[in-house]
Amino acid sequence: MAKDLNLETAGRNTVAIHAGEHPDAESGASSPNLVMSSTFVTESPVGFSANEITDETPYVYTRWANPTTKQLEDKISALEGAEATACFASGMAAATAVCLTELSAGDRFVVSEFSYPGIAELARDTLPRFGVEVVPADLSDLDAAAAAIQNGTKLVFVDTPCNPIMRLTDIAAVAKIAHAAGARLIVDNTFASPMVTNPLELGADYVMHSLTKYIGGHGDAMGGSVSGRTDLIRGLVAEAAIHHGGAISPFNSWLIARGAATLPLRMRAHAETAHTVAVFLEDHPQIERVIYPGLDSHPQRDLIQRQMHSPSAMMQFRLKGGLAANEHAAQRLAERLNIIHYAVSLGHHRSLVCWMPSDAMLDSSFRVDAAGRQRYYDWAGDGIFRLSIGLEDAADLTADITQALGN
Ligand SMILES: *Cc1c(COP(=O)(O)O)cnc(C)c1O
Repeated sequence: MAKDLNLETAGRNTVAIHAGEHPDAESGASSPNLVMSSTFVTESPVGFSANEITDETPYVYTRWANPTTKQLEDKISALEGAEATACFASGMAAATAVCLTELSAGDRFVVSEFSYPGIAELARDTLPRFGVEVVPADLSDLDAAAAAIQNGTKLVFVDTPCNPIMRLTDIAAVAKIAHAAGARLIVDNTFASPMVTNPLELGADYVMHSLTKYIGGHGDAMGGSVSGRTDLIRGLVAEAAIHHGGAISPFNSWLIARGAATLPLRMRAHAETAHTVAVFLEDHPQIERVIYPGLDSHPQRDLIQRQMHSPSAMMQFRLKGGLAANEHAAQRLAERLNIIHYAVSLGHHRSLVCWMPSDAMLDSSFRVDAAGRQRYYDWAGDGIFRLSIGLEDAADLTADITQALGN
């Protein structure tokens, strides 16, 4: 029954649909099975330690490995060009898995000064309690990156384009700096997706995703993934999946794999619509500034061309008139938008927007020094709207924004 499916020369659409999937051996089912079982019948006694797992270990218990989750892991590996992938209950569980597996007391951890707030707070609040030296740095500036990533650094964490300001970091350059210092590099590729950037090809050791965003794509299942070399991922499974226990539900794996099958198509449509909306916003009389990797006005054109196959569909903008005008607009958008949801999260088929005031973000999550605050203000002023463009018609999105902003 099992065919020898060779996807090595296949195109990205074919890979996204077929990688990881096999018709069911017993029934011939064409669509993937959903195996919810938490435990598995084995033919002979098996060990109970995470340290005893090998490639030959059969399915034992779903926190160790699960056939439905394995299908998703193989699909993500194919999309990221990775040897192996481990999935977790959320993007935060994936980030925590790498940090707690790699870092020990006394280690130095260099993290993008601006990143997803959950990761910023994990770095600043949790890891120091375990004796990790945490160094937030402007990794988009290669001199600052080289100064921060000294010998003795164990792990470097890059978020690019970074949440929420859309500033890029040069992955290949930071990978060289990290490796020269004996450190490993993890890249949070959530904003880009595997269709836009493949960090492992650029030298990263780990690439992580919040599967809750573009890869799942429908806003109905939380999950996270980490991909990399087989030996690194096996270490993560033993330490983080089996010991820390942030296992993804097989039902979520099944939903997310269903979403991932259309990722290449969706990312093309997301980017096309995002471009139309970004141009509309840039021309809008009330808008002061739009930052989107698909616009010529983005300050990092060269790096975008080298590192992003497409601009994805995340953008930030702010209105003219200072903080008061922007806060007033935030209230109007929340009350009046009909199609675009005023909500956090991103990468769904529904467009999502939310207001992010700079001082609150800087005080609660990022806590950088005065120079760092100035760098944030250079990109975001005293606040930005973060807009995730979905798959609706561009004309409906621009009409919704027009009626909500009013005059
Ligand atoms: C959402 C997000 C995360 C966290 O993922 P969850 O699935 O919400 O835990 C991490 N990084 C980025 C860039 C994100 O957007």
